[in-house]
Amino acid sequence: MTTSTTARIWKPEIETMSREELRELQGRRLREQVAYVHERSPFYRRKFAAIGLEPGDVQGVDDLRKLPFISKDELRRSQDETPPFGDHVCATREEIAWLPSTSGTTGTPLLLPRTAADIETWTELNARAFTAVGIGPDDIYQNILTYNWIYGGMALHLGAQRTGAVVVNAGMGNTEKQIWALKYMGTTAFHATPSYLIHLGNRFAEAGETDQLKVRSIVAGGEVGMAGAEAKARLRRLFPRVETLADVGGVTDVGTMIWAECREMCGGHLAEDSVICEILDTETGEPVAPGEVGELVFTDVVTKGAPLLRYKVNDLTRVDEAHCDCGRTLARIPDGILGRADDMITVRAANVYPSAIDEIVKSFAEIRGEYQVIIDKPGDLDVMTLRLERAGDLSAEAERDLLRRIDDRVKMNFGSRAEIELLDPGTLPTFVYKAKRIIDKRKGESEQDAVDKAAEQQRG
Ligand SMILES: [Zn+2]
Repeated sequence: MTTSTTARIWKPEIETMSREELRELQGRRLREQVAYVHERSPFYRRKFAAIGLEPGDVQGVDDLRKLPFISKDELRRSQDETPPFGDHVCATREEIAWLPSTSGTTGTPLLLPRTAADIETWTELNARAFTAVGIGPDDIYQNILTYNWIYGGMALHLGAQRTGAVVVNAGMGNTEKQIWALKYMGTTAFHATPSYLIHLGNRFAEAGETDQLKVRSIVAGGEVGMAGAEAKARLRRLFPRVETLADVGGVTDVGTMIWAECREMCGGHLAEDSVICEILDTETGEPVAPGEVGELVFTDVVTKGAPLLRYKVNDLTRVDEAHCDCGRTLARIPDGILGRADDMITVRAANVYPSAIDEIVKSFAEIRGEYQVIIDKPGDLDVMTLRLERAGDLSAEAERDLLRRIDDRVKMNFGSRAEIELLDPGTLPTFVYKAKRIIDKRKGESEQDAVDKAAEQQRG
């Protein structure tokens, strides 16, 4: 859609370097980072000593596999045992300039100490990512992300500002004001979670005000389901005049926009010079074949506050190193995140990724944004029920036809049938982030869990 001659590249010397040069740069930064964490952190010294690893054993990217993995549980333990920061942290108290933390939805929030140098590093990396999306000095960018406590909203604010864009610090929630700002301020770019994006799009469509939007670029991240062609097609129907719908992602324990789609929209380019990415077999921990799906493992070679080496992210994805027309040589994540490694559902012995369900739901214009998947085992067999909201009134005939087409898609994708329930719009709970749409009754979950979670988010 966009030629490389018109699209800007923030740091061409890095983003278009040859794969060999990139590997060389990664190796040099990895060597330095390993020496740095060993010097600064008792946590790393213990982990290295446990396997007899000396910092000098890691000379380049090929030696990455000598390093032990790190899990989130280990970081929590480190923080519990050496409060408040934990001894995995490498910066001194004097060097720490900013103290965001994780949301803590699954336990005590993890502190993410950042030094002044880290703030600068990630402001540049986020500016680079926004530039890839096509956001720059001509834009009014509405940052519809949480600012308080967590890392993302503020870090992305700084990155967008660095590109020269005008930044509106909207924060999350207050849909009426978001809609007012989108119209009144003439917002040309914004960032939101995919569920909120659909919520906003539906609001504009219902009010017949879609034409009043001046938005050219939409950035979405934080959940599965934005990267696929179906998800994009659905968003395109809601925002017909938008040029770029970019999937971005990261894991805040490491960094904010670790990947971002360029205007070619064929998968987010990874910031590989700063965060080395491995895709490993979930069973064996060995690298999968190029292009295969596996678990994402990040090694941060630039952050100084609390750098994480071989951090198991618990996300499933695949990586593509093929040529991109934008000119960037950085590898891409073509399908976004396919789901949490421990979230994959098995229905009648078949693996079902949450993103695959999302794709199906988003491919039907007659279906609204929210949906729910109930997995149960009333007898000997698993039963999957898709609860979907109609976008509007349908004749009995149109409804039968729709049900048949959904049934065909489900059979094609999963190899087995699903029960399908069509509901009135607004029946299902609406989420602003981390949607709870899959309810596995085999694990004792219930519909009420989703209702409670949505209510909690509305209050927050
Ligand atoms: Zn590209």
